[in-house]
Amino acid sequence: MTTPSGRATSTRVAVVGGSIGGMTAAGLLRDAGYQVDVYERSPGPLSGLGTGIVVQPELVRFLLERTTTTLEDISVPSSSMKYVDASSGALIGATDDSWRFTSYNALYHRLLENFGLERYHFSCNLEQVVDHGDQVDLTFSSGETAQADLVVLADGGASAGRRQLLGVTPEYAGYVTWRGLAELDALSASTRDYFDDTFTYGLLDDGHLIAYPIPVVDAEGQTRRALNYQWYWNVPAGPALDELMTDRNGVRRPTSVHHHDLRPELLAEFHSRASERLTDTFVELLHAAREPFVTVIADADVPQMRVGRCVLIGDAAVTPRPHAAAGGAKAAADAWALVAALTDGGDDLDGALTKWEAQQLPVGRAYLQKVRRMADVLQHGGRFTPGDPANRFGLPTVVAG
Ligand SMILES: Cc1cc2nc3c(=O)[nH]c(=O)nc-3n(C[C@H](O)[C@H](O)[C@H](O)COP(=O)(O)OP(=O)(O)OC[C@H]3O[C@@H](n4cnc5c(N)ncnc54)[C@H](O)[C@@H]3O)c2cc1C
Repeated sequence: MTTPSGRATSTRVAVVGGSIGGMTAAGLLRDAGYQVDVYERSPGPLSGLGTGIVVQPELVRFLLERTTTTLEDISVPSSSMKYVDASSGALIGATDDSWRFTSYNALYHRLLENFGLERYHFSCNLEQVVDHGDQVDLTFSSGETAQADLVVLADGGASAGRRQLLGVTPEYAGYVTWRGLAELDALSASTRDYFDDTFTYGLLDDGHLIAYPIPVVDAEGQTRRALNYQWYWNVPAGPALDELMTDRNGVRRPTSVHHHDLRPELLAEFHSRASERLTDTFVELLHAAREPFVTVIADADVPQMRVGRCVLIGDAAVTPRPHAAAGGAKAAADAWALVAALTDGGDDLDGALTKWEAQQLPVGRAYLQKVRRMADVLQHGGRFTPGDPANRFGLPTVVAG
């Protein structure tokens, strides 16, 4: 653990956004002796709606190194990757890659438990950020304000901080993803066996599916295995997208339409398209899922990750698409690198931030290029070669220039 320096103990850090990146940064900065407050827009604890996340070392590093959490507590394994034609069922290839899968909720609740609620402030929607060079003023929608010597903007892909400081907003990628979770006991034995111990790619000419097991923690704290899937649909921007993203009350949702807000005819179309296009095995999985919902895929590039005493981390900096399963890992890696740079930088806070930005910006941008290349193939029927190292999950290795 880092030894708190005199500077650290007197430096006030505001972390905006209390999810994976924000909570990793908050925990590390507090351990390093900083006075850390987290400002989160949500009125209460966040929920990942039961969706899965592939474990990368950076994603779970804080929990494994700084808490008593073990990998077994928060994840389940699989032993292979399988690539199939989702319309015929033909096997395209298989590899022996083994991965572990966790869930958003499993990570978030442990990060929150570690940080505690005393300085985690709910219902704080950042409205304005003003950098004065040596101090930053924050204003929230409630009218409340906060001051800090350093602000970590970890407010995700639609970052208000990024919009204000850099004028960057996310751009629609041309496709959406349907996501859902099926209980193992809701599936026939053959469908369960088909998906349970593997990461499955279901390839189509105009999109793709993925399916993999994840841990679900029940109200009693017991963990069970379930199957998580995503089905990516190409949908042009304009009327088709607007119709898809309009909820049962006629409201056009910007990012996701959650299950309870889905128009019944849309859910019917989802199921009928599955029956027309997919093999019976995929259809069974999709039909068995509780509460499917739809999310737009968007991304954003940034020219910088630091403006004065504000730093952008995770999705609030470069917002990637999900295909290399390392967006959360990138957010956590930004946080680890930030604290390492601050610790190495001694009293030179500005020098440390400059050094950190030079290190992390190329990683984020290279990752964005990687997932855009993967999307070109996955969404447009290109050749997605089993085992191709260019498509392997994880952050790219960037050699410092
Ligand atoms: C379909 C899909 C699948 C994915 N699969 C994986 C995977 O397998 N592995 C992986 O590593 N990553 C995956 N990701 C990516 C991962 O979810 C994100 O990259 C990761 O959550 C980014 O973390 P973050 O902390 O930067 O931002 P987020 O998790 O988006 O958190 C942002 C936080 O800021 C808060 N906030 C927003 N605006 C404000 C505001 N104005 N004021 C205050 N608070 C605010 C939000 O409520 C939220 O808590 C996936 C993403 C998607 C969409």
